Amino acid sequence: LSFKITILGSSSATISKDRGHSSHLVQLENIHLLIDCGEATQIQLKKFGFKASKLSHIYISHLHGDHYLGLIGLLLSLNLHKRKEPINLYAPPELMDILVVNFKFSDSKFNFPINFFATNNQSFTCITDEKKFLVYSFPLKHRIHCTGFLIKEKSKPRKLIAEKVKNLPPNYLKMLKQGLDIIDKNGNVIIKNEDVTYPVNQPKAYAYCSDTIFYPEICQYIKGVDLLYHEATFLEEHKDRANETYHCTAKQAATIAKQAGVKKLVIGHFSPRYKDTNRFIQEASSIFEHTYIANDGDTYVL
Ligand SMILES: [Zn+2]
Ligand SMILES: [Zn+2]
Repeated sequence: LSFKITILGSSSATISKDRGHSSHLVQLENIHLLIDCGEATQIQLKKFGFKASKLSHIYISHLHGDHYLGLIGLLLSLNLHKRKEPINLYAPPELMDILVVNFKFSDSKFNFPINFFATNNQSFTCITDEKKFLVYSFPLKHRIHCTGFLIKEKSKPRKLIAEKVKNLPPNYLKMLKQGLDIIDKNGNVIIKNEDVTYPVNQPKAYAYCSDTIFYPEICQYIKGVDLLYHEATFLEEHKDRANETYHCTAKQAATIAKQAGVKKLVIGHFSPRYKDTNRFIQEASSIFEHTYIANDGDTYVL
């Protein structure tokens, strides 16, 4: 599966000429997903050579303006371009109220359906089940309802080792392909899956965690992902400010990456007070070596 993530915006609070508000584009072969849609995400898509018309799924983490204020403009543009295909929109339930009021007073009529799915910030939940991938939401701890997202390639059925399974009944073979052990009625393992099968692919995964206070409970959901994006709004010198505003420092983001055993960490959502992002890298990479700075327009290929 071709799996690419492009950073469209990496600033918190106010935008600059180099950093827009939070938004990531995820390309899974020809399916395009948008995660968060800060102000001017439409411009960022154009600037980096993407077509908004290709989007089919949009995920909004929370309702602070820097994560969704570009959404209404984006939806209206899609409508002006005579879109017919539905958009699946996943967001905190209150976004529905915001959209309804806006479209009522602008008297906007849509040519395409917007399928709205309210996220919950209480549990790890599968919210999208497509042919080749799954998307889960999970709770983050912020000042308002906020969720992270995990996008995971589906695992292909395991391959059977022919000489080891030749006398087994078809229902056993089916279970083994799904990765299950064969267990007798007393709960004892009679055939261990890994003894008679082998995996075809190592499913790729990407997790998005913005915005949140330092919250190690999320490690269970994002364990071992190929790429973790985690906010790092502040440096340790402003740790108190991070706590008060329910954000993280670069060191805290790196600690999450280390505890979750991820392969790569990208940090972003920087406070505009810092002019030099090298300090974020220095602070984070002392805890977790494979840390990268989110820069608008950068693409990561899994
Ligand atoms: Zn934010
Ligand atoms: Zn926020």
